Amino acid sequence: MGTALLEGKFAVITGAASKRGLGKATAKLFADHGATVAILDLDEAQAKEAAADLGPNHVGMACNVTDLDGVQKVMDALIAKWGRIDILVNNAGITQPLKFMEIAPANYDAVLDVNLRGTLYCTQAVIPHMKANKAGKIVNMSSVSAQRGGGIFGGPHYSAAKAGVLGLTKACAREMAPFNVRVNAICPGFIATDITAGKLTDEMRAAVLDGIPMGRAGTAEDVAGCALFLASDLSSYVTGSEVDVNGGSLIH
Ligand code: NAD
Repeated sequence: MGTALLEGKFAVITGAASKRGLGKATAKLFADHGATVAILDLDEAQAKEAAADLGPNHVGMACNVTDLDGVQKVMDALIAKWGRIDILVNNAGITQPLKFMEIAPANYDAVLDVNLRGTLYCTQAVIPHMKANKAGKIVNMSSVSAQRGGGIFGGPHYSAAKAGVLGLTKACAREMAPFNVRVNAICPGFIATDITAGKLTDEMRAAVLDGIPMGRAGTAEDVAGCALFLASDLSSYVTGSEVDVNGGSLIH
């Protein structure tokens, strides 16, 4: 390992218990770079197990990002324990492969709530602290689906939620820039994780790969590298941006 980019920093990553997921890979890379990491996810045991994988001192906690009070309690507990939160990665997300007319109210609520409302709640829970510290980095997981109108796996409600994440990112970045809080979004393309595992047919996979100039699916580590850039001082003048990690599948 070369220079540690996050030495002494404290990072919170939501939805990071999933073993092959983007959040877990990001947590691992952040820990490798010297950060102390809190993994938040729905199941406490899985969150603790994922944190233990990173080494000692990391924390795993149950947190449903759609539960405003629960989110605030968890963030407050971490600030009390660590004295600070430097980095928040809003990574928790769900998707559903539905066509436009198949989206029932419950589908809309589920997908918008986790992806968009969860990003709002977790951000609101750390902003007063980051503003007071005059320091903070927030990284939001959007998707290429937001930019190109789906077409990979998630339905239109997922595209809308992830496009909402971009709007929230940019408006939050504008409002928080005077307080030295930077807010950016990552738009991953097709990344091999459990979010689509077992749900893509061979034909769907071949069609997706056909549309990727780099000719391969992304890896969770490809996304983690971008998150590290946005969470570290390497990106010190970057805020309100959407960074593509898509192998060229959307060049714009
Ligand atoms: P994943 O399914 O492996 O992990 C998602 C995690 O979020 C799971 O651990 C799950 O338990 C957790 N989660 C779900 N609802 C939650 C809630 N209410 N509160 C807290 N945690 C919750 O998925 P992934 O592929 O690692 O995706 C991570 C993020 O990246 C998601 O926001 C996803 O939409 C986004 N994304 C993924 C891809 C891809 O191709 N994999 C592409 C673009 C964007």
